[in-house]
Amino acid sequence: MDRESLSRLLAIPGFFVREVKFEPPTEGDRGFAWVVLERERPRYRCPCGRVFTQPYDHSTRALRDLPLGPWLTVLVLRLARVDCFACGVKTEVLEWLAPHARMTRRLAESIAVLCRAMTVEDAAPSVPT
Ligand SMILES: [Zn+2]
Repeated sequence: MDRESLSRLLAIPGFFVREVKFEPPTEGDRGFAWVVLERERPRYRCPCGRVFTQPYDHSTRALRDLPLGPWLTVLVLRLARVDCFACGVKTEVLEWLAPHARMTRRLAESIAVLCRAMTVEDAAPSVPT
C-alpha cells in the first residue's frame, strides 16, 4: 500500500504517513506496524487555543492506535511545545490525542466500548497491548 493510501486509511488530522515499518510477530507477541507521521503544515495549537507556526521545541512520541488488521499499530510523530505569550511553554494540543495520553482517542474510545459490552477480562484479548 502506498503512503497516500495509508494516510487516507489512518485519517490522522494534520498529518500524513511518511514511512511504515513492519516488525514481524515474535513468539507470543503480535507484529507491529510502526507508522511514522509527518505534519502537513507547521501549525501548533496551544491549550488556550492560540495557533503558532513556530514550535518552541519538539519531542518524538510513540502512540498506540487502532490495529491495522493483525498488526498492532504504533504512530511515531514529533509533538511540539509552543512558547505562548499568555501560557508560557506548553505542549501542543491535537484533537485526536488526549493530553499526556499514550494512545489515540479512537483507540481509548474503542476500548471503552468493549468494556461497556463485556467484562474487562473478556475484552482484554481484543485490546492491543
Ligand atoms: Zn496559550
